[in-house]
Amino acid sequence: MVPHLHAPQNLPGLSSAGQLSLVHWPHQCEVIRDRIEHIDWTPPRPEPLYTPMGLEMKPSYQPAGEGTVIYLTEEANKDSGFVYSQVRGLSPSKQILHQNGDNTLIFEARFESGNLQKVVKVNEFEYQLTLRTDLYTSKYTQWYYFQVSNTQAGMPYRFTIVNFTKPDSLYKRGMRPLLYSEADAKKHNVGWRRTGNEIKYYRNNAGQGGQQYFSLTWTFQFPHNRDTCYFAHCYPYTYSNLQEYLVAISKDPVKSKFCKIHILCHSLARNIVYVLTITNPHEGDKDTKRKAVILTARVHPGETNTSWIMKGFLDYILGNSGNAQVLRDNFVFKVVPMLNPDGVIVGNHRCSLAGQDLNRKYKSNLKEFYPSIWYTRNMIKRVMEERDILLYCDFHGHNRKKNVFVYGCERKQQAKAPNLHPRVFPLLLSKICPDKFSFPDCRFRVQKSKEGTGRVVMWKMGISNSYTLEASICGSKLGQRRSTHFNTKDLESVGHHFCDALLDYCVPNMKYYLCLKEHEEMVKQQAKVNSEGLNSDVLDRDSSTQTSNSSDSCDLVAHQLKLGTKIKTKTSGEHIHRIAKDRSRESKNTQGIETLHKIFQELDPVGRDLNWGTIPQPIEHFISQNLFLPPTALQEMCYASERGGVRPVSGCHPPKMESRSREKEEKIHHRVKLPITASVKQVGECFRFWFSGSEN
Ligand SMILES: [Zn+2]
Repeated sequence: MVPHLHAPQNLPGLSSAGQLSLVHWPHQCEVIRDRIEHIDWTPPRPEPLYTPMGLEMKPSYQPAGEGTVIYLTEEANKDSGFVYSQVRGLSPSKQILHQNGDNTLIFEARFESGNLQKVVKVNEFEYQLTLRTDLYTSKYTQWYYFQVSNTQAGMPYRFTIVNFTKPDSLYKRGMRPLLYSEADAKKHNVGWRRTGNEIKYYRNNAGQGGQQYFSLTWTFQFPHNRDTCYFAHCYPYTYSNLQEYLVAISKDPVKSKFCKIHILCHSLARNIVYVLTITNPHEGDKDTKRKAVILTARVHPGETNTSWIMKGFLDYILGNSGNAQVLRDNFVFKVVPMLNPDGVIVGNHRCSLAGQDLNRKYKSNLKEFYPSIWYTRNMIKRVMEERDILLYCDFHGHNRKKNVFVYGCERKQQAKAPNLHPRVFPLLLSKICPDKFSFPDCRFRVQKSKEGTGRVVMWKMGISNSYTLEASICGSKLGQRRSTHFNTKDLESVGHHFCDALLDYCVPNMKYYLCLKEHEEMVKQQAKVNSEGLNSDVLDRDSSTQTSNSSDSCDLVAHQLKLGTKIKTKTSGEHIHRIAKDRSRESKNTQGIETLHKIFQELDPVGRDLNWGTIPQPIEHFISQNLFLPPTALQEMCYASERGGVRPVSGCHPPKMESRSREKEEKIHHRVKLPITASVKQVGECFRFWFSGSEN
């Protein structure tokens, strides 16, 4: 028996004259009184990624005692825990270490979603920044958002953030920080935009006792004198932003008819976790036939891009288009737009005030510790008692990969009905949104380390279409949008396309049938591989051997394996066979990378130039379609630009990247313009080598 919520409660603030519910902070958090607001703005053209020159400097970490500390707040205090909260938090007891009367920058991050712990002035225009780890932990630095004032226009500033802990980052692949100038917003109506030159992400000398730290450094100029500016990892979207959005819905005489806003529960700090029920009013008992769609976001506070996708979804579904009507006629949407308001408020990257990653707690019964998770799961159980759930999706941001894609869950024996197959919906999305959503990046394996995630738990509760949607914090590698950043409109458009895909799914059209057909071909291909006795999944060689416990796990190994399939295409079977035999002598955890490297070297002695960190466009799509791989795709896969990062895989050492002259570069590109004529059979044979020995 599923416990039921109390009757819908009146929302403080949302039902009365537009007054917001007050934001609660952990009692020890200092908060400035100013309310930070930013204008909405979209750059006229997509903003390009940064292209490394190879000359970027790598400033070393300045230990305590060097430079002048000009900003310092409480550390995250991993030895204590959350005790109680209060509205607005503590008023700052003292100004922090500003040096008035000179041109030293003034830093501030004690506002909603702000994150900055310490700043050291290294020299006149150079500052070393330290981020605050998630509250009550000593980990998870990624998200940053802070204010800088007392600026001088046109001067050569350098910022270096010195305490990242992840070896890999999209900053290695062209991502640039975001800058917001209040003067530009006021005078020119310009909002958040990309900034930074000489961008470098690298391991620094700050590590002690086995802990490694990584720095992000960039140079830039402020656009105005005496301006107040902001920097952020991704477009901020605070709890207050959400409340304003919900207030607007509740005040709208039309939208409030089909969108009901309720309290799902309260967070540890007593902030409201909202749940929205969206469906057109119905007549009689017709309603129970409507299937449910469940969407959630911001379980990880630093993944702010997901709030923009959620906003895009809500704008569409609450709009007056015919399509929105059809969707509201056909479905009941249950939406939890912000699962972790406390984390969002305090500027955490990943955790709640329990100091835990909530997206590993969906199996937990600790209602008091993880209320939003417990109540979400309970709400879904309740919905399941009433009606079928067509789809569940939890929105996430990805900090190492580009594009938008999903993780789904798949059984060996899939349901007969093709429309229940978890690959069909993402396939539809990829057709609707080809410049952003990548089907080949989707994965459908269920890993042990992901058992506590919303996706896996909902799937085990019986929802076939159970997904984690991952949207790159950076941008796309696809089509027209290749090598550009996502902006807020792009992210909102992903929300719109999500609706379009649902529409195609519930009102089948040609696109839907084509996708079913394509999917059918994939299944046939899989069956063929199985019948040939291969112990592999041609369609999804995800990371069953991986041990990552993060939701954004790396699929490097899968990419390497895919690459392996292509080598077959232009080298003799005999030769590969010999090398593959060598593989059996390698230890199990080398994942075949060394072998692959050998093959590349045989194939092309310039193989050391391969970029092992950014191999795009897996070829499973081509295999499934029985297509030959176009030379340009091969070129892209094998000889991607040298700027990509290398992710270490335990036990093996991918080849080192070397910088090359432009001339050499062109020569290499010329060399790979070879026609590729792999047949599906050849590819299948190739898999046999890769999987023999390791997956039996
Ligand atoms: Zn996430």
